[in-house]
Parts: sequence; structure tokens; C-alpha cells
Amino acid sequence: MHYGPGMSPRRAIAILPATQAAIAEAAEALTRGGLVAFPTETVYGLGGDSTSDQAVAAIFEAKGRPSFNPLIAHVAAIAQAESLAEMDETAHRLAARFWPGPLTLVLRRRSDCPVSLLASAGLDSVAVRMPDHKVALALIEAAGRPLAAPSANRSGRISPTRAEHVAECLGGRVQIILDGGPCRVGVESTILDLTEAPPTLLRPGGISAEELEEFLGLSLRRSAQSPEAPRSPGQLESHYAPALPVRLNAQAAQENEALLGFGPADFATINLSPTGDLVEAASHLFAMLRALDRPEFKAIAVMPIPEKGLGRAINDRLRRAAAPRGRP
Ligand code: AMP
Ligand code: MG
Repeated sequence: MHYGPGMSPRRAIAILPATQAAIAEAAEALTRGGLVAFPTETVYGLGGDSTSDQAVAAIFEAKGRPSFNPLIAHVAAIAQAESLAEMDETAHRLAARFWPGPLTLVLRRRSDCPVSLLASAGLDSVAVRMPDHKVALALIEAAGRPLAAPSANRSGRISPTRAEHVAECLGGRVQIILDGGPCRVGVESTILDLTEAPPTLLRPGGISAEELEEFLGLSLRRSAQSPEAPRSPGQLESHYAPALPVRLNAQAAQENEALLGFGPADFATINLSPTGDLVEAASHLFAMLRALDRPEFKAIAVMPIPEKGLGRAINDRLRRAAAPRGRP
């Protein structure tokens, strides 16, 4: 183990050459809810257990993102992808041809999909990819679960393609950085949404749109955004919103309202975090909104959440849920 410059040993992270022993140690950390940065062929990923709400919340916290966008679940086998998502014939053909590789498929979640709803940002879809990197595949296999792994950089910084970049950017926010040398592709994966026909290109990346079109024998729909403007959470066209109206900064429920609590509030219908822990609150956000989105209530009232740390991302999502609906 060595410590990066200027870091006290307590906050230091281990940069470990990605040996079998180091991969086993990293997998162990992941199963305990820890975060591990690991190499893929595109960029270094900030990995966590995608089936754990807490681990996924910890990823958002470590990245310091002001909003939640859905994360990609990384798998080590096509059979593992099938356990998460509904894969139709097109999905199978694409997976057989381009996996492992820099192609992410957005698919419908299976009803028993184990991936955290927070990783899907509350949507009914899940993004899945099999990375083409032996360290990544070995780690996912050893962890025995799909890994959520956005790029291992703080929000607004460029994606890391070397282990040292991760150390500089994330410092002590990850337990272990597996060093597998520089990334081969260096740009993010292409993201293809297969939830509706024709498939929609959500993000250009490591596999070109032309190659996909030729393989599928059809024209892809392009997402409304230009490729120059990276798709950011705020620009996601569809995002989760409850069917019920949402009222923010509520101190108490009005008649027939459900109250989503934060901090000490035994009068709340359910509570994001009675102790006022923002990571815990983030981990519960989508599951609790869904739990309250029931016809016996006329609205969901939400207690105030502090506008700091993960609270900013929580409030961003709540403000969108509370915004007037202009959608069909
Ligand atoms: P990355 O930062 O490389 O992990 O890429 C994550 C991106 O994948 C997000 O910013 C979204 O644009 C996209 N994505 C992931 N899951 C979904 C989903 N369920 N629906 C639409 N886009 C998704
Ligand atoms: Mg990124």
C-alpha cells in the first residue's frame, strides 16, 4: 500500500496493483458496502454494490453530484444481465455481438430486478453493460453481484483513465483503487435505449452509431440532445415523478396527505432518515416515494431537506417531482 501525496494515513486510499489477491480484497470490500475504483476499457469506474441502496447513495456522495442520474449496472456475463432486465431479441443480438465492450443497453427492469431503485433514479429501466477488461470482469465475478460504476471523478471533473487520476480526484472517498494501467478506449460507453422502438442513441461513445445501425439494419433515433452537450441528469427527458402531487418544505401533513419525514418526526407516514443522515435519506428516496404514491392519499408532503451534500441532489429530484407536469 502507498499513500498519495499530502494525505494523512487515516484518509489515505490504497492503490493496489490489480493482482488476484487485490481483486479478492476489493470484492470483499464491495460486499460490505464499500467503494472500489477499478479499471474498465473506457474509464476508471467508481464501483459499488448496485443492489445496495446504501452503496449507491455512497457513490453519489463520493462523486458530489448535485443531482441523481441513473447509473450503469456492470455485469460479468449475459446471464447476469438477464437476471436484471427484460432482454428481447435485439438486446440479445447486440449483447452477443458487442459484449464485452463499450456499449450500454437501457432495458426494462425485470419485476424482480435486484438493482437499487436509486441506481435507476426511480425509473422502470436499468442500464446494463459488460466491460471489456479482465480486472473489471474478475471483480464483478468475485463480488457476485452487478456493480454500479460511474466514472471515478468528482462531479464536473474529467473522467479518469489512470489509477493516479482517481487518487488525485477522489482521495480518501474510496477504500481501494485497483490499478490496471491506463484505459484503452478512454471515452465513455455508447448508450442505446432499447425500451422503445426504434432504439434511441442516448450518448455517443466507444462504439459508433454507424456501426450499430449497420449491424441492426435500421436508423437509430437520436436523443433530443446534441452529442456536444453531454447528457446530464437535468436533461433526462423522462425522469421519475410520482402520480400524486408533491408538496415541499412541509412541516406537517394536511388532510389526506402522506408525509415523507426527514429528521426526528414520529408523526411522519414514513421517514427518509429519522437521524437526519443524508446518505441514508438518499438511499430511501425513490423506494419511499413509490411506497407513498397510492390513491388513498391526495398528495405527498415532504419535510425540508438541508441544501448541502447529498441534500442538494435529493432536493433537485424532489423539486422536479413537485414541478407542474407538462408531459402527456
Ligand atoms: P456513466 O456516467 O458513464 O456511468 O453513464 C451514466 C449515464 O447512463 C447516465 O448519465 C444516463 O444518461 C445513462 N443512463 C443510465 N441508466 C439509464 C436509464 N435507466 N435510462 C436512461 N439513461 C440511463
Ligand atoms: Mg462521468
